[in-house]
Amino acid sequence: MNSMTDLTSGAAFQDQFGRQKRKLRISITDRCNFKCVYCMPEHPEWMKKHNLLSFEALYQFCEFMVRQGIEQIRITGGEPLMRQGAVHFIEQLQALKKIGLKRIAMTTNGHFLKKDAAALQQAGLDDLNISLDSLDETQFLQLTQRALSPVLDGIFAAKQAGFQIKINTVLIKGINDDQIIPLVRWAKIHQFEQRFIEFMPLDGDQKWSQSNVVSEQDVLTVLNSQFDVQIQHGQGSNPARRYIVDGMPIGIISTISNSFCADCDRLRLNAQGEFYNCLFAQNGLNLKDEIQQLTHDPLAAFVLQDKLRTYIWHKEQGFHAIQNQQRHSRKISMYMIGG
Ligand code: SAM
Ligand code: SF4
Repeated sequence: MNSMTDLTSGAAFQDQFGRQKRKLRISITDRCNFKCVYCMPEHPEWMKKHNLLSFEALYQFCEFMVRQGIEQIRITGGEPLMRQGAVHFIEQLQALKKIGLKRIAMTTNGHFLKKDAAALQQAGLDDLNISLDSLDETQFLQLTQRALSPVLDGIFAAKQAGFQIKINTVLIKGINDDQIIPLVRWAKIHQFEQRFIEFMPLDGDQKWSQSNVVSEQDVLTVLNSQFDVQIQHGQGSNPARRYIVDGMPIGIISTISNSFCADCDRLRLNAQGEFYNCLFAQNGLNLKDEIQQLTHDPLAAFVLQDKLRTYIWHKEQGFHAIQNQQRHSRKISMYMIGG
């Protein structure tokens, strides 16, 4: 008998504010071929390869988490397609759909999609979010240190492969906020769902400042100047507030000005087995040993369940509550935890 079948299953993890956890984000690598100004530090210190959890261990953990009520798994990074075996891992995860997993998703910078999109589709990936911060080549290079054209090729390869694509754009005041209109027009032509993300204090070199943030209201002001904009109610646990702009859905993720924490159903694991109950959590839980033991120790699942229940229960109310505590012991970077 599988050691995990004895565990209380189906009942989702819950925190002290009654929020059930249904989504898990797994960063499979912190490495990236881009150097986005709002994410990567000038001199990144990569995790040591021997410290990363193997795909076998990650799979065991995903199985455990699906038995605890997780319904959606998003694979992210760093750049997830930089890690060899990423596509195969997606294929393996399909087996978990028999025990309750509903969707498997990926967030990528798009650079490798020309090569990998068809294989990802075949592997059964359900949802694909691609980051694209500018349609202007020079601006794109300034923002990411990489060329735009492989990303556009990757986006169209993914469309060709049959994906419904969401485009993620982080806006920074005075840098790429002139892209709001061009991106919405471009997304409409190609039938992509455009999403704008407020710049969060998660950049590697901690240069974030409130004055760089293009807020949800700023975006709406620009959109209203050119388009018919209607709010779509019923956001639920979706981090993006949705609007219908000239008939097309767009999303705005406004963690800073209008946070979506009240309904947060997400949990995160980084590539070396550190678990976080919130993107902004000051303390993570190092689960590497427990996760590695899942493959051969029948009791490991019980230990893991216990630790996770307690840790998840203590999830804080959200971004603003954590910011107000002014305890900045953990340097939090998006490329390490996975967005
Ligand atoms: N490399 C992949 C990519 O760029 O899509 C996946 C990892 S990346 C960390 C995931 C998402 O986080 C991207 O959409 C990226 O734009 C977003 N992101 C990174 N740093 C951010 C920040 N400081 N504020 C808001 N979003 C950020
Ligand atoms: Fe890499 Fe994604 Fe961070 Fe850009 S946002 S540096 S592509 S991990």
